[in-house]
Amino acid sequence: MRIVIATGNPHKVDEIRAVLAPMGFAVLSLADLGRPVPAEPDEPGATFEENARIKARYYAAAIGEPVLADDSGLEVDALQGAPGVHSAYWAGAEGSRAERDARNNAKLVAAVKGLPEDRRRARFVCTMCVATPDGAVVVETRGEFEGSIVDEPRGAHGFGYDPHLWLADRGMTSAELPPEEKNAISHRGRAVRRLAYLIQHKRIAW
Ligand code: IMP
Repeated sequence: MRIVIATGNPHKVDEIRAVLAPMGFAVLSLADLGRPVPAEPDEPGATFEENARIKARYYAAAIGEPVLADDSGLEVDALQGAPGVHSAYWAGAEGSRAERDARNNAKLVAAVKGLPEDRRRARFVCTMCVATPDGAVVVETRGEFEGSIVDEPRGAHGFGYDPHLWLADRGMTSAELPPEEKNAISHRGRAVRRLAYLIQHKRIAW
């Protein structure tokens, strides 16, 4: 079976391919199609699930074959789940990814300022969805990655909010984990392995 991943982020494609290729899937990015594809749709959903569905259906209809889309972000309990679906552009859409990440992280630290350690629980969430060109959702999964927010950034791996998600059992932040170790326990890693499990054991096909 062949599956196209609806993302322009080559790291995500690599992570997903690492799990699905050994199962016999041909995993392609939109760029691998070698023809023009429409720009990303708006993601107006109130949940990660809704946004992944919107993206998967949109691209499946546009390219005429099944598409896997994901949506992800950070939920902070003391902020009632914010930034949530707004994680990427929480502090504004201007500038490069690195500039947005820096602004987002400054906003995060300001938002939890003064909170004691036990009120800093947070998690990364990733939802994945495979849809077919007729709009049917074939399979959906969710993965979570629990931690707490620290004021001081640590680590140079990863992206986004990684330097501020503290993993107590590892004694380090998500940005201090080497990529393979992060994939083994992260929200995205969990979501894609669950997807692989469901496809294999529930005999989902397209
Ligand atoms: P998207 O799923 O690419 O739209 O990402 C949403 C946003 O959530 C990213 O821009 C990051 O700010 C944040 N995010 C999602 N996953 C991670 C992660 O693994 N580490 C750090 N930040 C993340």
